Amino acid sequence: MDLGIKGKKGIVCASSRGLGFGCAVALAQAGVDLTICARTSTELDEAEDKLVSYGVQVTSVCCDITSEAGRDLLLKACQKPDILVNNAGGPPPGLWSDWESKDFIAAVNANMLTPISLIKAVLPHMISQGWGRIVNITSQAVKAPVPALGLSNSARAGLTGYVAGTSRQVAEYGVTINNLLPGMHDTKRLVDLDSALSKEKGISQEEARNMRMSSIPIGRYGTIEEFGNACAFICSKHSGFMVGQNILLDGGAVNSTF
Ligand code: NAP
Repeated sequence: MDLGIKGKKGIVCASSRGLGFGCAVALAQAGVDLTICARTSTELDEAEDKLVSYGVQVTSVCCDITSEAGRDLLLKACQKPDILVNNAGGPPPGLWSDWESKDFIAAVNANMLTPISLIKAVLPHMISQGWGRIVNITSQAVKAPVPALGLSNSARAGLTGYVAGTSRQVAEYGVTINNLLPGMHDTKRLVDLDSALSKEKGISQEEARNMRMSSIPIGRYGTIEEFGNACAFICSKHSGFMVGQNILLDGGAVNSTF
């Protein structure tokens, strides 16, 4: 399928590996020129090399997207994006009694205020040109809480509420904002969560991984390619009627009818 976005300019945040990188690859395959970012320059350079091989222009910005200075650098590198994919690292797992106000403030900053700030920065250009696509990588925790991820559950609920309203304010200008909700996808983040479970239960890393995979009806973790291709579709010319949705990609893990 021709996604109809060849030659467009896209920012993909937090994209040297994992889900952000999966989205960057799928957009590069669709011909989108990219601005990517991460905090570790070596991994970012490797990601840039891989993305350039698809024949698109790639600018990489080594920055912390959760800081104002980092966001300024990124927006300076791509001043008029047609596409924005919001992403950042996820908060650590824990127990309700572990979390202090400062932990919630960090999570809200990274997973709610950072994407909101970037959305606010790119909307004027998208609205003025009558076309734009914004996708926020959130989490299945928005639909069904993951108890150990209380910081994530809380911050992402805030972003979801913001998108529900704002997406409807900007839809008439040809700009869509939607959220893509990963279930368990095979990334470093998942390896870290497997480790946390193995420590908590006193089992091996492999046992923890198998335990978590067997909780998913499809019986495996998702891939970053599956995730990236879904993101590219939401960024495509075909998705103009999709507004303010929360699209779950979880292999059936969230057990609900709607
Ligand atoms: P990952 O494999 O650990 O990759 C995270 C990427 O983001 C890396 O490129 C990392 O590079 C970059 N990054 C992290 N913090 C950053 C920051 N402050 N500024 C700039 N770049 C940053 O993680 P992932 O699994 O792809 O997860 C991405 C997001 O989806 C997270 O918020 C996670 O909680 C959420 N999520 C993931 C899953 C899953 O199954 N994987 C499920 C639900 C939700 P540097 O470390 O070098 O900065």
